[in-house]
Amino acid sequence: MIKVSGLSKRYGTHLAVKDASFHISKGEVVGFLGPNGAGKSTIMNILTGYLSLTQGSVEIDGYNIMSDPELAKKRIGYLPEIPPLYLDMTVREYLYFIYNLKKVRFPKKAHIDEIIKLVRITEVSERLIKNLSKGFRQRVGIAAALVGNPDVLILDEPTVGLDPKQIIEIRDLITKLGKNHTIILSSHILSEVQAVCKRVIIINRGHIIADDTAENLSKNLSDDHSLVARIIGREDDVIAVLNSVKDVKSVSCLGELETGSRDYHIEPSEGCDIRAEVSKRLAERGKVILSLRSNELTLEQIFLRLTGEDDMRRYFEAPVNKTEESDVAEDAAASDDNEDKEEI
Ligand code: ADP
Ligand code: MG
Repeated sequence: MIKVSGLSKRYGTHLAVKDASFHISKGEVVGFLGPNGAGKSTIMNILTGYLSLTQGSVEIDGYNIMSDPELAKKRIGYLPEIPPLYLDMTVREYLYFIYNLKKVRFPKKAHIDEIIKLVRITEVSERLIKNLSKGFRQRVGIAAALVGNPDVLILDEPTVGLDPKQIIEIRDLITKLGKNHTIILSSHILSEVQAVCKRVIIINRGHIIADDTAENLSKNLSDDHSLVARIIGREDDVIAVLNSVKDVKSVSCLGELETGSRDYHIEPSEGCDIRAEVSKRLAERGKVILSLRSNELTLEQIFLRLTGEDDMRRYFEAPVNKTEESDVAEDAAASDDNEDKEEI
């Protein structure tokens, strides 16, 4: 569906994207993950035909974005980092406006009504965009991307600036849209990408440094196959039971993290999967396991290993941003300034 080969982008003397190549198949939901300034928006702007490329090629459903821009762009719905909403229009007026701009052929009212229902903005469809919360505005931006029913959705930081409830709602919407669309979304927040995407493309300083499932990235880079279990029972009893399991190399108690139980770090002999035997033995001895998980690397740790960076706090912010009214007003002003940049 999307073929990117040897893509580079230069802004003046600054090379923002360097020799990026990847293929995305129909129906995939892929996350671009990387710190601010990594090049995520630049790649997305090139995929949507909004920016020209310096080198390489981009094909959308077989159409080259440079030589066949109209046909390539028709297949893409784009939610830019700052959606260019017209604040003095109602939601419906705005979506009709986008419909005309995109020269869509479907029956107008039925098509827009369907999108309004899909992204759950029926209750605000006759309200002015300027009076909507940031969460609803983001839904309107996604609705605009869906006008014309494109196969591919490109969503640039779709949950930035939303409150936790809105974040969950937008994530659910993206998951729902993922059933019928090929989606690329970007985020500098690891948990965001992990929550919605199966495949992760990690970008750092303009380079693609990893491209795999979150699971595989974790597995391949991890040399630690130990388990962490939360178990109810006397500490010395539990340790004795765990030590009696074949292929358990060592056990250590991590303390009482939840009242009435303790967490244990269990290390197996090399290459052994001890999960089944551990749970079986504990059950036989009447010990209750509240949780059992692999102590695999988190995406944070993967990122650090891939980049060799020592302090990731420079790169990743807290998973949730609070929305404040003043931010909304500023965003609204910013999107006004950007109206001339509109690209659907
Ligand atoms: P991300 O979306 O991952 O935060 P961007 O694609 O916005 O990253 O930016 C990548 C790099 O390109 C950054 O160093 C940024 O400062 C630079 N950059 C982005 N847009 C422009 C521009 N219009 N002119 C010059 N440099 C730019
Ligand atoms: Mg960006």
